[in-house]
Amino acid sequence: HKPRVGFIGLGNMGTPMSRRLVEAGYSVAGTDLSAPNRQRLEAAGGTAVETAAEVAAGSDVLILMLPNSDVVEAVLLDGGVAAALPAAAVIVDMSSSEPLRTRALAGRLAADGLARLVDAPVSGGVGGAERGTLTIMAGGEADTIAELADVLAVLGRVRHTGAVGSGHALKALNNLLSATHLLATSEAMVAGQEFGLDPSTMLEVFNASSGRSGSTENKWPNFVLPGGYDSGFGLGLMLKDMKIATDLASGLGRPGRLGSRAVELWAEAHGELNPGADHTEIARWAGHAS
Ligand code: NAD
Repeated sequence: HKPRVGFIGLGNMGTPMSRRLVEAGYSVAGTDLSAPNRQRLEAAGGTAVETAAEVAAGSDVLILMLPNSDVVEAVLLDGGVAAALPAAAVIVDMSSSEPLRTRALAGRLAADGLARLVDAPVSGGVGGAERGTLTIMAGGEADTIAELADVLAVLGRVRHTGAVGSGHALKALNNLLSATHLLATSEAMVAGQEFGLDPSTMLEVFNASSGRSGSTENKWPNFVLPGGYDSGFGLGLMLKDMKIATDLASGLGRPGRLGSRAVELWAEAHGELNPGADHTEIARWAGHAS
């Protein structure tokens, strides 16, 4: 029989992910602070409730797709969610949270005899969430991750990255790379266009050359060149991920010169663009910066 799935955080990612689970035949109860987001789950055939504790009470697998560790901890601990969950339940934090806080949280839940925690952050964006092709970086006990196989297969492909927290570490490092690529690509595109190169030709050649990346293959052609800047991943969330990665590296005594510089530049862009800017607007910023 299928586990009952609880889903907390029905934003840009949580909405398509929870919808896929409903379509795959899971009974999904979810919540979000935003009423329109709750209504989207109802419209998809799930059950929306007002509070996270109500979601928890009936969940065998509780998925979190929230902004950051602050919110994850507030919901689980202060919001009474961890205490309301059945003892055999598994909490799956698919948000891009902080690895060391995730590790500490898992330890605290275990010490209190509460539900097990797995971190399973994702890459692939809103499109990947809609298509069920996310890359899922799962940290935790192998047996626990194996229990989640069917549920996670609806959302994407799982890689077991190691102990709890390791998925969050790898995700943050991935996004530090991704953000660095995107700014570097944007600077190259600005200079090339100024020289008179055609942007589509540039991308085509980069994609057939060693300059290719997710930025040349996906972000620039799909979200920057058409002028939509509508990837559905906020610039503030990207900056949060970059800081998680560089703080982790510094804490390990391995601070990176390029990474810390990239954080400074993205923070500058964050201050100059509007607070709700899409992360791909870093390309616009690169075009305007002198
Ligand atoms: P989002 O801002 O669209 O969604 C977050 C949702 O959490 C919002 O709907 C918000 O109302 C809700 N929320 C906030 N506090 C809450 C609370 N206390 N209780 C209930 N709901 C609450 O963000 P998103 O783009 O869906 O990203 C979610 C996570 O996934 C972030 O950690 C992000 O970094 C990560 N991520 C995003 C993408 C992407 O492409 N958007 C891709 C991979 C990972």
